[in-house]
This record gives sequence, structure tokens and C-alpha cells, in this order.
Amino acid sequence: MKVTEFIAKADRTLFSFEILPPLKGQSLKAMLEGISPLMEFNPPFVDVTYHREEYIFRKHENGHMQKVSTQKRPGTVGICAALINRFHVEPVPHILCGGFTMEETENVLIDLEFIGVKNVLALRGDAPKAEGRFTPEDGGHSYAWQLVQQIHNMNRGIYLHDETEIGFQTDFCIGVAGYPEKHFEAPSLTLDLKHLKAKVEAGAEYIVTQMFFDNQRYFQFVKMVREAGIEIPIIPGLKPITTLSQIKNLPRIFYLDFPKELMVELEKCKTNADVKQVGIEWAIHQSKELIQAGAPSLHYYTMSKADATYRVAKEVF
Ligand code: FAD
Repeated sequence: MKVTEFIAKADRTLFSFEILPPLKGQSLKAMLEGISPLMEFNPPFVDVTYHREEYIFRKHENGHMQKVSTQKRPGTVGICAALINRFHVEPVPHILCGGFTMEETENVLIDLEFIGVKNVLALRGDAPKAEGRFTPEDGGHSYAWQLVQQIHNMNRGIYLHDETEIGFQTDFCIGVAGYPEKHFEAPSLTLDLKHLKAKVEAGAEYIVTQMFFDNQRYFQFVKMVREAGIEIPIIPGLKPITTLSQIKNLPRIFYLDFPKELMVELEKCKTNADVKQVGIEWAIHQSKELIQAGAPSLHYYTMSKADATYRVAKEVF
């Protein structure tokens, strides 16, 4: 079933979460066992991230360094199949522009259709870590709206090289990303919303937000999105903070602010366990307020570690 259908049929806020494929060489079985406690809260859908290639440097015996490209977390399509078979939930694979030609994207979408995937989240992706700026592949997309358009075309039976013949019509429900605190490259939130609207006009049916820690940012974002004439569901993304290092890293990596009240509590923390307790309590507080405000689903960024999200969900769902 489609994410939008789950939302339309629900009489309460839904629970969903996002997982990362395991690092190459690690077991999928262990990862699936790790997240299985979260199934107690009946997530109708589970997102699976996609990770483009990264550059690593390999040292040779002669001392020369060689730059090699490697995908550290492959397996998104396989995990989708495993989620369907093992948990009977709808997987939502993330599909990226970065690192892919349109032809490769088309082929991945055909594989996904064949294994019974009904939903995808269409994203641009970021530059590889060693590069400062996003550059599309030759024959790839520059922006997510173009990827949405490609998927929407397949839903109408239009494939890349079939200008005249109408092929099999896929039926993907397409989600896209939204940024309550603005995407870091956008000069203003207003311009970012214009680009968000382009994704909706290209065929996006729902939005999942970047994580935020101040609900007022989400409420303000929803208001601005509606004023911009966008009517589709906006699913808030939440992350329970669990480690001391995340206090510095989350704002730096995701370009977001911690509200003062949360920061006061985090500054008192001496250990990861202290941070985790504060992070869980804060996420519970955020979740309850968002449910009261009628959010369609709460979407937790778990990083494939269930414990903190489990403790939040136990209090909230
Ligand atoms: P876009 O919507 O294309 O926007 C990117 C930037 O370009 C924005 O600043 C926008 O304002 C601007 N822009 C858009 N259209 C135009 C235009 N026509 N002209 C000029 N500027 C324009 N990354 C991964 O690598 N893997 C994942 O699995 C993944 N999952 C994510 C899930 C969620 C819910 C979110 C919020 C993010 C995720 N990301 C993931 C990160 C995402 O790829 C990055 O944030 C990326 O920098 C932007 O992706 P986007 O789809 O929002 O891009």
C-alpha cells in the first residue's frame, strides 16, 4: 500500500522509521534482528537510505596513495525485499540523483517494481565527502524534481528511450525531502519552498522533513508550505540524541539549531548515557506535541539502532 493511502486511512498519527543498510561485510540478519522490537508499534512503512560511492585512499608498498571509489553501504534493494518478507511492512527505498545516470535509476526502479515496492523517496543526495559541491553524473539529474519527474513518467508508462510507445505503468508513491530550517544551499527559505513546490508539481505526493528539535520550526514550516499552495502531507522527522558527539555533529552535519531549553539540559550531561536520557525525554516531548497537533506520522531517524526510538515510542504510541 502507498504511504499516502496509509495516511488517508489512519485515524491517528502513524509511527515510521528509517534504517541504514549495514556496512559492507556486516550481516543483514543482525541488523533486522536489531530493529525487530520496533515492529511492536506497527509501522506501516520503513525507509531504507541509499548511500552513494565514497572515495578512500589506499596506500601502496611504494608509498603512493591511490584514490579509489567504493560504496560502503550497498544493498538497499535487497533490504527492501527482506523487509517485505520478514516483517510485511512497506519499504520506502531512497533513490538518489548523485552517483547515478538516469538509465541506472530507471533500472533500479524496475527492480524495485518487480519485488513489489510501492513507495520511494526521491532525493538529490550530497557531494561525495571529498568534494565540496554536488555535481551530477553525466546523464544524471541535477535536482530532485527531475528525478521525481522521471519516476512520475514511469508511472505513466514513459521510459527514457521510448518516445512513442507507452510501456508498463509503474505505480510508485513518491515522497520528497523538506527542510524546516532551510536546505543549507538555498539562499532563503522562500526560495527553498519554491523548489519544494517544483518537486510537488513534478509528481511528489508527500514530504518527509529533515530532523528538527524545535517543534515551532515544523509548525512554521507547515504554515509556509500551505501558504505556498502545497497541500500534500508533511511527515516530521525526529531523532533522539544519544551521544555526546552528536551534540556537536548534528547541528554541523544537518544545519540545524538546538533550542535553548534543550541545550541547557545537554550542557549538564557528562556521559553518553546522560545524553541519551535527555535525548529520549526531549523526543517524547516533541512527539506528544506533534501528535496533538495532528501530524500524519512521526518518522524516527534510528541509524538502525532501535533502543532510543523504542523507548520514545513506548511512551507515545
Ligand atoms: P533538492 O530538492 O534537489 O534541493 C537541493 C538544493 O537545490 C536546495 O537548496 C534547493 O533549494 C536547490 N534547488 C532545487 N531546485 C533548484 C533549481 N531548479 N534551481 C536552483 N536550485 C534548486 N542523502 C543520501 O545520500 N541518502 C539518503 O538516503 C538520504 N535520505 C534523506 C532523507 C530525508 C528525509 C532528508 C530530509 C534528506 C535525506 N538525504 C539523503 C540528504 C539529501 O540528499 C540532502 O539533503 C541533499 O543535499 C538535498 O536533497 P534534496 O532531495 O532535498 O534536493
